[in-house]
Amino acid sequence: MEYYSSHINKLIEQLSRLPGIGAKSAQRLAFHIMGMPKDQVSDLIGAIGNAREKVRYCKNCFTLTDEEICPICRSDKRDKSTIMVVENTRDLAAYEKTGRYEGVYHVLHGAISPMLGIGPDDIKLKELMQRLQTQDVKEVIIATNSSLEGETTAMYISKLIKPSGIKVSRIASGVPVGGDLEYIDEVTLLRALDGRTEL
Ligand code: ZN
Repeated sequence: MEYYSSHINKLIEQLSRLPGIGAKSAQRLAFHIMGMPKDQVSDLIGAIGNAREKVRYCKNCFTLTDEEICPICRSDKRDKSTIMVVENTRDLAAYEKTGRYEGVYHVLHGAISPMLGIGPDDIKLKELMQRLQTQDVKEVIIATNSSLEGETTAMYISKLIKPSGIKVSRIASGVPVGGDLEYIDEVTLLRALDGRTEL
């Protein structure tokens, strides 16, 4: 039996596809949206559409940005010879919030996971190696998560870079195991960065 209109059912179905949104949350959101003024709903739809349409990868570091080259890569205040490798743009944002890191980034958009069938070619690793060949880089700081996937990725990258003679370091493991970088407080992040060890 159909309890709701098919339109509401469709909305619930779409919302429940989002990460962290279970069937109950999807229902709650759907009914909330039904109660919203129509112009607010239009603003929400517009914001989602615009973000998806206009946001792209920075050609250099692959973070999500509105422009061809992101503001961090464009800034002449940043030290281009130090590249911090992170799994995603949220992790980059976590480090940016500390306001203490002066180098640039490279965003992998994922981590190597044999279990999920995600290999080195599925993340932006080739692009990182290309940067190392064409840019004057002195240190690569690997700041992938301390999960199994993050560690696997860190080891893989370090083995790849080592022969080039570029210094490779790994952030200290003060970061809780399996913890997403974005949920870790700034003090812990800075301690992890300062206490990084050469691989
Ligand atoms: Zn960039």
